Amino acid sequence: MVDGFIERLLPQRCRICDDATGGPLLCDACTLELPWNDAACVRCALPMAAPGTCPDCLRRAPRFDTAWAAFRLQPPIQHGVHALKYHADFAQARLLGELMTRRLRARAAALPERLIPVPLHPLRLMRRGYNQAVEIARVIARECAITLDLDGARRTRPTEDQIGQSRAARRRNMRGAFAVRADLAGQHVALVDDVMTTGATFDELARACRAAGAERVEVWAAARTP
Ligand SMILES: [Zn+2]
Ligand SMILES: [Zn+2]
Repeated sequence: MVDGFIERLLPQRCRICDDATGGPLLCDACTLELPWNDAACVRCALPMAAPGTCPDCLRRAPRFDTAWAAFRLQPPIQHGVHALKYHADFAQARLLGELMTRRLRARAAALPERLIPVPLHPLRLMRRGYNQAVEIARVIARECAITLDLDGARRTRPTEDQIGQSRAARRRNMRGAFAVRADLAGQHVALVDDVMTTGATFDELARACRAAGAERVEVWAAARTP
């Protein structure tokens, strides 16, 4: 209690270099040095040398309209994502959510009407106690004043670990994994998760959202794997 009180009286310090920032969680210099995913595929956020459309998306377009990942999954972002997912370090959700919000506010495109965090299967949620996607989405929803939809979508069956699987295998593995009960008729929605790997999970959730009537489906991830 006393510690928390004193902390509030002290100036904010940068989480990385410990310089006084006078407000935000990171100083400007450290923010600039983060592994921002600025050059990426406009459809699936795959890191590339220059913005464009990647060969995979040219061959088969994803079922979401566009994907945006704020960062590449590299240090120090990688450590933050890990600490949130496996060690319940919720300060990382605040940091990631606020950094994502800064970029989202700066873009010209219209914001969605609804945020849908990628749901965990209830068994996994019970074991972990929280969903890291919800924790990040909560921050963005509050900062950008977008409706946070926590029960519009659910995962109907547990899916196997997808590490090391091919794109086609991941897609097969995800088929029918989500049910959307919200009425999304004519809506613009954004699906939110901590990490985007191949996009198979988002692709399947986007399919379910479209079946529920969604008109535009965006994907927002904190970090993208190479
Ligand atoms: Zn700093
Ligand atoms: Zn792509």
